Amino acid sequence: MEFDYDLFVIGAGSGGVRASRIAASFGARVAVAEEYRVGGTCVIRGCVPKKLMVYASHFADDLELARGFGWSVGETAFDWKAFIARKDAEIDRLNGLYINTLEGAGVELINGSAVVSGPNSVKVDGREITAKTILVASGGWPHMPDVPGIEHAITSNEAFHLEEQPKRVVIVGGGYIAVEFAGIFHGMGSDVTLLYRGEQIMRGFDDDLRDRLADEMRRKGIETRVGTNVTRIEKRDGNVRLTLTDGSEVEADTVMYATGRVPNTRGLGLEDAGVDLAQGGAVKVDAYGKTNVDSIYAVGDVTDRVQLTPVAIKEGHAFALTVFADTPTAPEHDAIPTAVFSQPPIGTVGLSESDAKAKYGDIEVYTSDFKPMKHTLGGSDERAFTKMIVDKSTGKVVGAHMIGADAAEIIQGIGIAVKAGLTKVQFDATVAVHPSSAEEFVLMRTPRAS
Ligand code: NDP
Repeated sequence: MEFDYDLFVIGAGSGGVRASRIAASFGARVAVAEEYRVGGTCVIRGCVPKKLMVYASHFADDLELARGFGWSVGETAFDWKAFIARKDAEIDRLNGLYINTLEGAGVELINGSAVVSGPNSVKVDGREITAKTILVASGGWPHMPDVPGIEHAITSNEAFHLEEQPKRVVIVGGGYIAVEFAGIFHGMGSDVTLLYRGEQIMRGFDDDLRDRLADEMRRKGIETRVGTNVTRIEKRDGNVRLTLTDGSEVEADTVMYATGRVPNTRGLGLEDAGVDLAQGGAVKVDAYGKTNVDSIYAVGDVTDRVQLTPVAIKEGHAFALTVFADTPTAPEHDAIPTAVFSQPPIGTVGLSESDAKAKYGDIEVYTSDFKPMKHTLGGSDERAFTKMIVDKSTGKVVGAHMIGADAAEIIQGIGIAVKAGLTKVQFDATVAVHPSSAEEFVLMRTPRAS
């Protein structure tokens, strides 16, 4: 049978763009449908604008630090509208680059929502299109719990486009997005309250990092309340009033929910095409990204494995190699380095102490707690902390963690070593880069008493 395309991709985000481009480079005839803007969550309303906001917000601390190094800093002010306009211009530029990349690769871009109508067909705005292979790369969407008045809350989607900077913000959630935006709004001068339902923020991360981040956030002035949740949201005189589980109330200009993201499969027609979905709606795939229907694959957040852009890109690339270059490639999901752009940031790779203990039993833990040199003259109390976890039986470093300035930059290199399965002895044999914070990873010598 003759198909309109060799590959039809649903979603021009990180995973979909990579898969389209690489498949086209192997000679496939590719079309990609995008209902919003090319670039997807990461470029349009995620990693990229978020990182620009982190940079913007950081100047508050940096200007303060400058005084400690002899600079006289005049009156300073942050202009939200000016920043948002500049940020939007940069996002437009990147969006254009992504479109050019697809066009340059010979991929046909279709603006519209695609619905899968069969194993080899999709419908876009009523038009049926056939393809030998369909790739679902439709990403995820913020999830908000069913709380009375939830319609008064925003998510990260809207946080990038607020008309005015809120003076008082409440953030609900204790994961990546919650702590990142808490730091962003606080740095820009808003009063921030973070509400988290569990015992400590950043569940799943190493406990030492979780405690330190919560302490640092409180020390900076972010009210971080754990063991609490919202039972009701009301709008009064333009403000939001939240009732909490303990009956107390909090008032703010804006309440932002950062309570996880769910796979974007609703209305995609996948069930009708016979594709198995997991309970939360994620597309179930094998190691190569293939669903139970031979002609339909999925990559990225829609599969709800690891919700990270670089992982989606790897999965998209591996899919293209597997299907269009006759090179079966299963992306690996172990030892994925990741950074949380909180303030201070977290960089982490491998297992937390508790997960390593559960997996290996006998482990050694090395830690280092220090004041980064940059802060010695600056008058800031911010400290940095590094931690390494070693499997005693093999000597391999199975987890490396850091909270402190530049952690995101530092952990990438450490991630190579952990992914490669290097041992503590090999770390120790490496000469330190001095003076730096990164050097702690090759200088920690005495294990913590168990
Ligand atoms: P996360 O899963 O990281 O965090 C969700 C938070 O919301 C958790 O603290 C969770 O609590 C809480 N929560 C969930 N449901 C409810 C509820 N009904 N009521 C109250 N609290 C609730 O999701 P995010 O939204 O922060 O981010 C989504 C994903 O995007 C991340 O997991 C990450 O993979 C990715 N991301 C990555 C970034 C990066 O690489 N720097 C930046 C931003 C996002 P509990 O712990 O109790 O379940």
